[in-house]
Amino acid sequence: MDISYILNHLGEERENYFGAVAPPVIQSSNFAFKTVEDLRTSFTNERNVHLYTRGNNPTVEILRKKVAALAGAEDALVFSSGAAAVAAAVMSQVKAGDHVVCVKKPYSWTNKLLNNYLSRYNVSVSMVDGTEPQYFAEASNEATTLWMLESPNTFTFELQDLKALSALAKSRNIVTVIDNSYCTSLGQRCIEMGIDMEVHSATKYYGGHSDVVAGFLIGNRPMLDKIFATELLNIGAIISPHDASLLLRSMRTLPLRLEKIRQTTDAVVAFMKSHPQVERIIYPFDESFPQYDLAKEQMRWCGGLFSANIRAKSVEEVELFCNSLRTFLMAVSWGGHESLIIPACSFYSREAFQSEVYSFNMVRFYIGLEDVDFLINDLKQAFKKIE
Ligand SMILES: *Cc1c(COP(=O)(O)O)cnc(C)c1O
Repeated sequence: MDISYILNHLGEERENYFGAVAPPVIQSSNFAFKTVEDLRTSFTNERNVHLYTRGNNPTVEILRKKVAALAGAEDALVFSSGAAAVAAAVMSQVKAGDHVVCVKKPYSWTNKLLNNYLSRYNVSVSMVDGTEPQYFAEASNEATTLWMLESPNTFTFELQDLKALSALAKSRNIVTVIDNSYCTSLGQRCIEMGIDMEVHSATKYYGGHSDVVAGFLIGNRPMLDKIFATELLNIGAIISPHDASLLLRSMRTLPLRLEKIRQTTDAVVAFMKSHPQVERIIYPFDESFPQYDLAKEQMRWCGGLFSANIRAKSVEEVELFCNSLRTFLMAVSWGGHESLIIPACSFYSREAFQSEVYSFNMVRFYIGLEDVDFLINDLKQAFKKIE
């Protein structure tokens, strides 16, 4: 389907709301019926009628249709956060006694869900190096119901071979879920590569303006019907109609923002690579990236996030570099208009730095929508401070 059609028209029924170009925010918790018979049938078809906003709200429904179509999938559900979408996807596929295989170094709350929370319900988890599909197969047993992927991750960017893994999983009747937040559905076509479900932190690129927290879960209709009736309605981690309308507005410009971010990221990466105070760059579309060929094969788009090792003699010097940046803000998250940094050394106290997990001089960068010179000038002056 044409991306312009999806972003500008799909799901919008303007004749039903005065021809308004922007979809209305239907800020209503419940919806009234004229007859008992209509009410009665709505109870058995909550997914498709408007009964109650925890289920199907008209503003959220427009968003759901666009999100599914962008991914080339049958359907999508919208949650109040990416973490809620991840949790719903995972919990929908396990029961007591089951086993999950997850790629190492996933998003922190995915890690906590799998390794701290699910053990309460007697679900066991193996974390594997995801660079070889075989490692997933070797870690699986008869109790394995789910392979949880994240490709690339958002700090060191290791990839998994999505076509190979989805084929292997299908042959063993194992469900595959990927966190596709880094690329978005435009940048990586997971459903077309055979992955069963795709989750996103919509807080990042889909929202794009650092003012909404939301999540998407995308997949085929039978799986999503089941998740709607269980995890979504029971746990109730829904998005508000107002936040859904903010996402609808943001998504009109998603392709433009991604294109601008890709161009600026390429230019900033080139600047960093040529800078004497940069030791190493980790960026999937850079030729030095260990899985460069796989990145080029399965990702249509790469940008925004990359990491770099700064040539600094101490944690204090890394901190001086970071504290000196002015246009780059220091904050968690990414995907918004504003460029960001987050240094690995902020995850630990100076004394307890865990060099086996991250090197002390690693800094993650996110490139937003600012002009490239504005960003490079800021980097130059911060590098001067640690010369
Ligand atoms: C931010 C993020 C999440 C969590 O999303 P929230 O919207 O913050 O709940 C999940 N996965 C990845 C890769 C993320 O970057």
